[in-house]
Amino acid sequence: MTEILKELLMPQNVSCMVCKSEKGMGGADGLCAACRQACRAYTGPEYVEGVHLLAPYAYQGVPAKLIRGLKYDGRRYMARPLALAMERVLSRAKLSPDAIVPIPVHPNRLRERGFNHAEVIAAALAVYTGLPVQTDLVRRVIDTPHQVGMSKELRQKNMKHAFEADQRASGLHLLLLDDVCTTGATLSACARVLREKGARINCICAAAAEE
Ligand SMILES: [Zn+2]
Repeated sequence: MTEILKELLMPQNVSCMVCKSEKGMGGADGLCAACRQACRAYTGPEYVEGVHLLAPYAYQGVPAKLIRGLKYDGRRYMARPLALAMERVLSRAKLSPDAIVPIPVHPNRLRERGFNHAEVIAAALAVYTGLPVQTDLVRRVIDTPHQVGMSKELRQKNMKHAFEADQRASGLHLLLLDDVCTTGATLSACARVLREKGARINCICAAAAEE
């Protein structure tokens, strides 16, 4: 957590974290004006696989680069522009959840990657919203294989028993957070186990596929 805060509160970038340009800098997000303008808004459906989804960006271009940089290259500071954009859509939606819940990763995957990228984005969003992050309400109990390129049906089947929720979720309004929503299978499966415990769920992602 301290590490994440340190990266978030770093002095303002002098060059863009995506294209390295020094022109058009000055925003709080660490992006140059051109990269910021190149971020396309998500205009897809508000409900995906039965969950209400908030997402500032379409999953392509600059937002996709930020997400991949965070996830695969460990560039935690790339969570900052994503979380700032998420804070904007959240405040526009006028939701006031009790807590942010990052989608958990399986302990095997955590060992492999060293951190949960959704948790990093959640920590950044917590800074900008003042909401607490809760990571102990849902666990990933099955290590689902890489879902890329898999059919929707197979993804749903793999996800069905992937999560286990805690009874303490009962009565809470939770904002379930993931980096990307592609088919919605992960968010939907995780939302289902939390709802079964009596939680109310909204979902938020940095970007979503428009298909
Ligand atoms: Zn740039």
